[in-house]
Amino acid sequence: MEKYKCKSVGIIGSGIQGACIGLQLIKKDIPVTIFDRHDPLSSDFQPASYGNAGHFSPYSALQFNRTDILYDVPQMLFSSYGPLALKWNYVTKMIPWFLHYLKNCNKKSMLHTAKYMNQILSLSNDAYEEIFKEIDTTNLIEKKGIIYVWTKQNLKSRELEIKVRNDLGIEQKLLTQKEVLKLEPNLKPVFDAGVIYESAMHARDPHGILKEIFKLFLNKGGKFIQENITSLKQINENQTIIKSEKKEYSFEKTVIASGAFSKNLTDQLGEKIPLDTERGYHVHFKDMDHLISRPVIFLNKAFGVTPMNQGLRAVGTVELGGLKNPISKKRIDYLIRCAKELLPQLENHEDEWLGFRPTLPDFLPIIGPSLKNKNIIYAFGHHHLGWTLGAITGKIILGIVAEEKTNLDLSPYSSKRFN
Ligand SMILES: Cc1cc2nc3c(=O)[nH]c(=O)nc-3n(C[C@H](O)[C@H](O)[C@H](O)COP(=O)(O)OP(=O)(O)OC[C@H]3O[C@@H](n4cnc5c(N)ncnc54)[C@H](O)[C@@H]3O)c2cc1C
Repeated sequence: MEKYKCKSVGIIGSGIQGACIGLQLIKKDIPVTIFDRHDPLSSDFQPASYGNAGHFSPYSALQFNRTDILYDVPQMLFSSYGPLALKWNYVTKMIPWFLHYLKNCNKKSMLHTAKYMNQILSLSNDAYEEIFKEIDTTNLIEKKGIIYVWTKQNLKSRELEIKVRNDLGIEQKLLTQKEVLKLEPNLKPVFDAGVIYESAMHARDPHGILKEIFKLFLNKGGKFIQENITSLKQINENQTIIKSEKKEYSFEKTVIASGAFSKNLTDQLGEKIPLDTERGYHVHFKDMDHLISRPVIFLNKAFGVTPMNQGLRAVGTVELGGLKNPISKKRIDYLIRCAKELLPQLENHEDEWLGFRPTLPDFLPIIGPSLKNKNIIYAFGHHHLGWTLGAITGKIILGIVAEEKTNLDLSPYSSKRFN
């Protein structure tokens, strides 16, 4: 019997998921066209894949569907300078997400999420290493580990995190305050202890890496069309249609890799997927990246600093407020205040950026075919870990498109769990 070969694929989104999926498909000689309203090679391309903290974090299996966090949420929400904020005009729109979150906020779901995040996270760095062999990574990647620090507050949460990671066999090295300061002497000792993931790496310029991956995709024959996609549908077993503001395009299969914006498209397919966004921010302190050698994350404050080519990037916080609310000055002020507390040498900042983490309420991504339209394939909802999971998602989607067998259990990532 002749082996099945997909004839053509359209991908909506050229963030890290879309770019890595496109690359994997084109490497197997499957004709691919990526659509995005922004050109990934231009400077006005600023989605989550551009402005993130740049951590490749294969250790981050434990997510936020945890009762220890749930109890702290109300207090955090009512403090305007806390790590979590809410846009009150968005509360009612977020109710479906909250209801699913509450349903998934228990020990069993927490461990289920951790197990299946770990399944893909544990493969994530190797998947990137394969890509890095084919692109120029000079000044783009650093392998010096990633440090997290914390105060004596909420120690029970830290103990839980350490235990779950130990149980999953994740490598971690606990550090005293003195040991952290030996590695990062410029930090002000406003924390009590920490952990280092020694084998973790970080991007010195996430957009720079994405551009290299995208250029490789184009060099191998991939196509790119800069248009805003308004709708899509499956016509029959062999045809899907992607419609932009200008034109209609036909492909055998279509992949939705539109990050936090994917819900606009999945709603049209009759699936109720409670995708929403956790908004995050960054600012740069130019020429200050020499202050630290590796990313440092202050867990109690939900923020971190990463040494990047643009300067020191202070990045993080979670704001629940949808895709349309404007940038919050208070969130920017919070980031600056936290950064200066940890590194008092910092002065003026620039580049205030808001980005949209695509988040599902059980903190697992959706990777797999649409329930009602088998030729439309989903690849979104990677929340805080979409940068880390780009390359492995590309490989998984290639397997689904090419209808190859896999040893991975992909059922936990199906949209079936919400329908
Ligand atoms: C502050 C912050 C820090 C983060 N730090 C990290 C980190 O350190 N490590 C980590 O692993 N992850 C991190 N993340 C998460 C990570 O950045 C995201 O999960 C990931 O970038 C999502 O990638 P994506 O390709 O799914 O979506 P995106 O990067 O959002 O790309 C989606 C693309 O689809 C396009 N698009 C959407 N709809 C349409 C349409 N209708 N027509 C045409 N084009 C469309 C958009 O223009 C966009 O280019 C962070 C996120 C934020 C916000």
